[in-house]
Amino acid sequence: MDVKDIIKPENFVYGKSKVLTDTVMHYCPGCSHGVVHKLLAEVIEEMDIQDKTIGISPVGCAVFAYKYINIDWQQAAHGRAPALATATKRLYPDKYVVAYQGDGDLASIGTAEIIHACNRGENIVIIFINNAIYGMTGGQMAPTTLLGMKTATTPYGRRADLNGYPLKITELIAQLEGTCYVTRQSVHTPASARKTKKAIRKAFENSAQKKGTSLIEVVSTCNSNWKLSPVKANEWMVENMFPFYPLGDLKDR
Ligand code: SF4
Repeated sequence: MDVKDIIKPENFVYGKSKVLTDTVMHYCPGCSHGVVHKLLAEVIEEMDIQDKTIGISPVGCAVFAYKYINIDWQQAAHGRAPALATATKRLYPDKYVVAYQGDGDLASIGTAEIIHACNRGENIVIIFINNAIYGMTGGQMAPTTLLGMKTATTPYGRRADLNGYPLKITELIAQLEGTCYVTRQSVHTPASARKTKKAIRKAFENSAQKKGTSLIEVVSTCNSNWKLSPVKANEWMVENMFPFYPLGDLKDR
């Protein structure tokens, strides 16, 4: 094979999970969503639960998650994924139910749903992608936007006196009795992606053991709306997001 043939897509060795479909993802190059989808698919494949898992897709950039991971899915209205996950799990108690949400969806529009589902201790898995901005709608301020961070609606930077403080909703959720496992991870390096995969696996195992709600926050990049290259976005995340949203387990019982 000639060198120029090696870069042809038909000659790639993908090694991708069979739980992922062949649909090309619509995410911007460098976006964290694709990596998290890959990890979720790998966990489902390794646990051999493809036919036993129901995903709840959100409104936001991950709205088409059902196109990429080959399991049963339901599409929730904006912010309502935890409510739909609750109903699905109660109707199908022997299935694994995973809700996938971004920060605009989970921490703003769906605040009531996430708090009450977690407080009830529903036996569901929640994957929470926090990139501190509304991605799909054009980069508006989200509850998770950092102070001083420029967005489409805070062009001079978020101000506490005008816009309020960033919401650490994962810390709030960790205090709720119904949650058994709450962790904050990232996928910006191979080592961090491995830790996130381990966390997703643990969350599914908790669900099998009926321990309560497990939530994995993934501190993520939105390089398009941050207006940075993928590499610079990762650097910005490490320098600015991690001090405010420190990685690690907040609760594990
Ligand atoms: S807008 Fe942001 S979150 Fe949405 S796909 Fe692009 S990089 Fe990802």
